[in-house]
Amino acid sequence: MDFKNIDLSQFSELLGKKQSICIVSHKSPDGDSIGSSLGLYHFLTQLGHSVSVITPDRHPSFLNWLEGAKEVINFEYQPHIVTKLFDSANWIFCLDFNAINRVGDLTPLLESAKAKMINIDHHQEPTHFCDYEYIETDASSTAQLIYELIAQTPHIDLLNQQIANALYVGIMTDTGSFRFPSTTASTHHVIANLIATGIDNAAIHRNIYDSSSESRLRLLGYAISDKMQLFLDHGFSIIGLSEEELQRFNYQKGDTEGIVNFPLSIQEVKVSVFLSAKDDLVKMSFRSKGDIAVNEIANKHFSGGGHTNAAGGISALTLIDTETKLIEILKENFPIESK
Ligand code: 5GP
Ligand code: MN
Repeated sequence: MDFKNIDLSQFSELLGKKQSICIVSHKSPDGDSIGSSLGLYHFLTQLGHSVSVITPDRHPSFLNWLEGAKEVINFEYQPHIVTKLFDSANWIFCLDFNAINRVGDLTPLLESAKAKMINIDHHQEPTHFCDYEYIETDASSTAQLIYELIAQTPHIDLLNQQIANALYVGIMTDTGSFRFPSTTASTHHVIANLIATGIDNAAIHRNIYDSSSESRLRLLGYAISDKMQLFLDHGFSIIGLSEEELQRFNYQKGDTEGIVNFPLSIQEVKVSVFLSAKDDLVKMSFRSKGDIAVNEIANKHFSGGGHTNAAGGISALTLIDTETKLIEILKENFPIESK
């Protein structure tokens, strides 16, 4: 497929007038995919387009307070509506993913869509699956790219609190609250401009991080005290939760988000992996410190990918067998003498 980078100054012209637009984000949508999608949604809607935000499956409820989040269409629940929207769309924006199969069960529909497609993303190793693309692999988040895109159109005056709230959430969640190495001076400039719209940034942190249920916090406590396996000589940690354990803590989507980060607070731990079992599959989250590229491990062994310090993957083995395989791989990658 031919592709070209978008000339941002011509973005508005590229869209033309009154388009039917779908914004699609990846499976298991996170703060950045929903934040960037809703930020773009509020911008394009003000330009007079008819816009829908579509996710392959449900987003976590801690994002529900964002304006427009309740209108997001979940393909798992409403496949027919998504089919219709794709049929009538002139444009499909693919946000925060670098390969078409990252939309899971929505992949065949996206592959056969007739609309012009544009990919806006910050993941490494883009696969160029769209007609147009705006990709910055060094960017902190897709939300930061959406800001930059808006800022380079003649319509920066349309930046309002709805857009700012959504983009702030995307940047904040993908940078671990502005602490990952991807956080640059320009990230903080963008954040300053978002706060200048008058949004309540302290409230955003509360809405995202201080909105747990009791059972979610107890699940975190259990995961750390009972399930964390430390391999300090090798510098890694793994936590695996079975479906039964998740149910015991009344698991809701999003409840395990962030658990993977806690083992990294131990000085010796350089790599942390969190595994959770669901429907005969094990979903894996990888995190690392410094220049350890966990996306390479996720890609090579667990059909996944992502960023240097944050990646994901999947395993069709049982939880126990996945853990055994993972421990073997990590011990091999991080032998004791390498420390
Ligand atoms: P998380 O651990 O938060 O689910 O994902 C961390 C990062 O890895 C995100 O940037 C996400 O897009 C990416 N990621 C998660 N799961 C997968 C996967 O199965 N395949 C690929 N290529 N990337 C993934
Ligand atoms: Mn992202």
